[in-house]
Amino acid sequence: MKTNKNNATEKEKNIAITLHEALCCSNHTDQCGWFYEDWDGWTHQKYLKIARKILKDTDFNTAKKNQDHRSNMNKLEQIGKDFDKISEHLRDLLKSIISSKI
Ligand SMILES: [Zn+2]
Repeated sequence: MKTNKNNATEKEKNIAITLHEALCCSNHTDQCGWFYEDWDGWTHQKYLKIARKILKDTDFNTAKKNQDHRSNMNKLEQIGKDFDKISEHLRDLLKSIISSKI
């Protein structure tokens, strides 16, 4: 049996099969090669690529990294808000010092 050049896993293949079934609108007589080619074929590679992307996006570590990134962005946003508040207080404080000297 010919080995797949990209060594697709069973999981990737199953997702690719499901994706092809769900998404392919091509004519299978002369437009889409799915039923004529093997996993090295152009159409199979196209759906494997999408399957790998889905697996990567739903991977725990990737999801965690995205969550950490969001969390850091929220912290930065909070620091920005805190800074605005402090600046406001400083402005008020300066105004009161200036006005008390006059
Ligand atoms: Zn097809």
